[in-house]
Amino acid sequence: MDLAEIVDRAVRRQANDGTRLLAILRDVQQEAGSLPPEAIDGIAAAVGQPRVRVESTATFYHLLHNTSHGAYEVLFSDNIVDRMGGKEELMRYFCDELLVHPDKLSHDGLVYVGSTSDIGMGDHAPAALVNGFALPALDKNRLGLIANLIRAQLPVAEWPRALLDVSDNVRKTGPLLGEPFSPGAGVARAQSMGPDGILAQLEAAGLRGRGGAGYKTAAKWASCRRAVGKAHYVICNADEGEPGTFKDRVLLQSYADLVFEGMTIAALAIGAGRGFVYLRGEYLYLLRHLQDVLARRRAAGLLGAGILGRAGLDFDIEIAMGAGAYICGEESALIESLEGKPGRPRNRPPYPDTHGYLDQPTVVNNVETFACAARIAERGSAWFAGIGTAQSTGTKLISVSGDCKYPGTYEYPFGVTIRQILAEAGASQAQAVQVGGPSGTCVPWREFDRKIAFEDVPSAGALMVFSRSQDMFEVARNFSHFFAHESCGFCTPCRVGTSLLRDTMDKLAAGKGSAYDMQSMQTLMRILLTMSHCGLGHTAAKPVVETMRAFPEAYEHRLRKLDFEPAFDLDAALGTARHITGRDDEWAHIVEDER
Ligand code: SF4
Repeated sequence: MDLAEIVDRAVRRQANDGTRLLAILRDVQQEAGSLPPEAIDGIAAAVGQPRVRVESTATFYHLLHNTSHGAYEVLFSDNIVDRMGGKEELMRYFCDELLVHPDKLSHDGLVYVGSTSDIGMGDHAPAALVNGFALPALDKNRLGLIANLIRAQLPVAEWPRALLDVSDNVRKTGPLLGEPFSPGAGVARAQSMGPDGILAQLEAAGLRGRGGAGYKTAAKWASCRRAVGKAHYVICNADEGEPGTFKDRVLLQSYADLVFEGMTIAALAIGAGRGFVYLRGEYLYLLRHLQDVLARRRAAGLLGAGILGRAGLDFDIEIAMGAGAYICGEESALIESLEGKPGRPRNRPPYPDTHGYLDQPTVVNNVETFACAARIAERGSAWFAGIGTAQSTGTKLISVSGDCKYPGTYEYPFGVTIRQILAEAGASQAQAVQVGGPSGTCVPWREFDRKIAFEDVPSAGALMVFSRSQDMFEVARNFSHFFAHESCGFCTPCRVGTSLLRDTMDKLAAGKGSAYDMQSMQTLMRILLTMSHCGLGHTAAKPVVETMRAFPEAYEHRLRKLDFEPAFDLDAALGTARHITGRDDEWAHIVEDER
């Protein structure tokens, strides 16, 4: 099939709808292998958008590319936990096996091997994706097998399941994960309560959003319900991109009914007819399963027209795929992406509850929040409010990874201490944990009695463990690279600030750091915190600030001298100027005591 035909089919599948641009781009890339300029031209013409608009979306997302990545695209997850598991060496080994260079297509056009940000498999690290399928728990043995399969050009769908299966690794269950659930039970109870009853239940339960910020769910839903609009929408934020977090993967893989049930209850409460699950591009392998669960729920009368036989009660859910952009975890960026644009955060207010998807009232909640809402509808607010602490009710799913014997997903009542989690995860040698991913909190060993709760250490769900053998400077340096890579580039303080911070950390790592660099990083941190447009910029310097405070020695021993030390040879850098001006006298050189 030629490119024009591929574009035409992809656009028609999405009803020539420009808000579905990301789906169109993904489809074309899937069939054509890449998004060359002619594909962008064709798509722009077909959806009636300026070419530059289509191109800006196509170039924004890491998983979209304008050159071929061959028949097999292998992307190694590049979280710190993957690195601790030997990702760098394994990737080199794999490239050698296949005779390819990293980030380059092989000469025969068969295979591309590269890195990508965390893929949500910290409990199976080091891990990778091949053509969107997950490759957990990699070692040289498995990579050798994978290289053979690629050389034999066997389609990934026919590879041994043992290479592709991702186990849940649920290590500890509580009322959310551990108790039986009957699909439809929560929806039936919510129907009998009506919108006011649902909101009253949520308020009494004290449910707060599980995405990290902890905003009260009842207040968000009530505000959305009050807002006037042509239509109301429900969005499930399944863009689980915070490095170290994978508990939403588990919910989507094994508890999808609970999540869809919570979305349906939200729709009943706010009067929505349509909902979306925004699924991160790295979780493509979950798509078929989620569509099967949705189909089953439609057949059971739990989605579609006349839910549970009640005329006029209509709600359905579709799954929209992301394409690799951490920033789309921010709710307004997610909505932009869902509308077919680059995922750049909007100015707020107004907030999505009044002006969200297509500028209409929209509830956006995390996967886990919807699962909790379903349990509350089913079992009541008093039950939920009786778990956890006064300000943080219910339980929290924690994704534990890193230096521990039992990585996986743990369910604890809010208020659990970090020490208890570490004991159960078999992490006896921990010197620090990073709670909530790089944008969260670094907790050193002397503070392990702190509690996971909104009032102490809030968390979106990640807990990465670092033993005494880990260099906390390198941990912070990895996070500084992550933020520089994921900055969407919209505002200068973050675009430039994250790059400068990364470069300064690299300079320290190269042994060229000085007290001046430490001071300049403090200045950068203030600029990032106070002048960035969104939360990514606000928190980008946090890992450096916190590790500097908790582990100053990790930085100090890297300082070469107390005054300024350039990262490069200043005198050599002036060579071109000397050549152009024809000067080579002593005044055209920088001597040691001037530096
Ligand atoms: Fe984009 Fe960073 Fe600015 Fe947020 S702070 S809008 S991620 S450049």
